[in-house]
Amino acid sequence: MLSFEHRYATLPEPLSVECAATPVATPELIAFNAPLAAELGADEIPDEATLAAWFSGNQTMPSAKPRALGYAGHQFGNFVPQLGDGRALLLGEVVDQHGKRRDVQLKGSGRTPFSRGGDGRSPLGPVLREYLVSEFMAAMGIPTTRALAAVTSGERVVRQLPEPGAVFTRVASSHIRVGTFQFAAVRRDEAALKALADHAIERHYPEAANAQDPYLALLEAVVARQAELVARWMSIGFIHGVMNTDNCSIAGETIDYGPCAFMEQFDPQKAYSSVDQGKRYAFASQPGIAQWNLARFAETLLPLLNEQGDAGVAQATDAIRRFDGVFSAEQRRLHADKLGLAAESNDADALMEGLESQMHQGRMDMTATFDALTHYAASPSDERRDALLALTTQPQALTAWLEAWQAAQVAGQDDERFAAMRRGNPVIIPRNHRVQEAIDAAYDGDFAPFYTLLGVVTQPFDDSTEARRLAAPAIDSEQVLRTFCGT
Ligand code: AMP
Ligand code: MG
Repeated sequence: MLSFEHRYATLPEPLSVECAATPVATPELIAFNAPLAAELGADEIPDEATLAAWFSGNQTMPSAKPRALGYAGHQFGNFVPQLGDGRALLLGEVVDQHGKRRDVQLKGSGRTPFSRGGDGRSPLGPVLREYLVSEFMAAMGIPTTRALAAVTSGERVVRQLPEPGAVFTRVASSHIRVGTFQFAAVRRDEAALKALADHAIERHYPEAANAQDPYLALLEAVVARQAELVARWMSIGFIHGVMNTDNCSIAGETIDYGPCAFMEQFDPQKAYSSVDQGKRYAFASQPGIAQWNLARFAETLLPLLNEQGDAGVAQATDAIRRFDGVFSAEQRRLHADKLGLAAESNDADALMEGLESQMHQGRMDMTATFDALTHYAASPSDERRDALLALTTQPQALTAWLEAWQAAQVAGQDDERFAAMRRGNPVIIPRNHRVQEAIDAAYDGDFAPFYTLLGVVTQPFDDSTEARRLAAPAIDSEQVLRTFCGT
């Protein structure tokens, strides 16, 4: 079905090592992303039993050569010299219909040489969460890994309690992480480091190869890509939750949907992850953390730069500092879209700051606020204005803000600008309590809520009745206050 190549496998060991999947008891297909398979160049799609066998690892797909990838990483600021794929296997790369090389990886397919204490498996809950959230991000046009398949294993995995097991198939532009570079660097394996950097350039940033210093150009390109990514996340209230350097992709995609969550009531200090006690990865800390991760990336590249010693460090530092400018420019663009203002508007940042403070102080739900604002911009009726004011505990203050916003020449009847506003403001996000509801039902054997939710979050601008029902913020008793890695 897929025709695999194995370019990464030609890089020096132990960047990757051969490893077979451990078969599961009774694989059953839950979901298969046929449009994505077609994009990856899949010809014939076989029957479900074959898909279940392939995407559980019980059978090796023709031309696949499973390998576990090595990487290191800073986890919550602490360096771990060897992490690696402890429960994942790269099947190989496919060149998709746009000529782009993409990794296909099984997650939950059994132990590998990198497993340490873990069982190499994945519970069903995190598999469904990653499926829903990564496909939503893709529908929003936010760079992300994708979901190709999900299969239940027919086995139990023991976490706090026994849970059903599952295997997830992830598609990524690559699985090269900041931690992959740290892995080569900490081993002082300059040959592996250089091979890795050359591979990353060829694969993700081919224009860097022609720069005067290709490795400095690689750093600059990754900095820019990450700055844009984090700005996109924040524009829809996404909190990654575990921005360790091993979860920071060199391709600039969102990767590793562990304890991620979308912010409901706007609060810059919001953090959901149960393991993030110190709120290291809180909503508003994300740009600073991304920059910190990129500084760790820069450190690994120092031996490869044209300039050595202090001059090299100064150049790398400059490159990291450029994060701020790229981030602010992208954020300004996104603010203008979300508020329905012209791209060149000078008011976007100040108005957004004002609205954020309204949302915070008036305890407003972020997604509902922007959705209501979009409706109001489309047709400024009293009814729509009241719907917006109903979202805040401080309607008077919001009324004053609305006047300033309208004075700044909002989208109104300008079709193009309104379309941009709509694209910036989804009707629906995968709300934490809805994701949890889908997982809970699946644990009782009912996948219908998962399919329904997947259907609506992958059409995030559709205003259907079903979308509206699932888009509503959690009432108090439904609130999800904590999320878990679930590994
Ligand atoms: P993650 O939290 O998924 O980013 O994983 C961090 C590290 O722990 C990676 O090296 C994973 O491969 C490893 N890991 C997570 N869960 C398991 C598991 N169930 N078995 C083995 N290794 C695991
Ligand atoms: Mg990870």
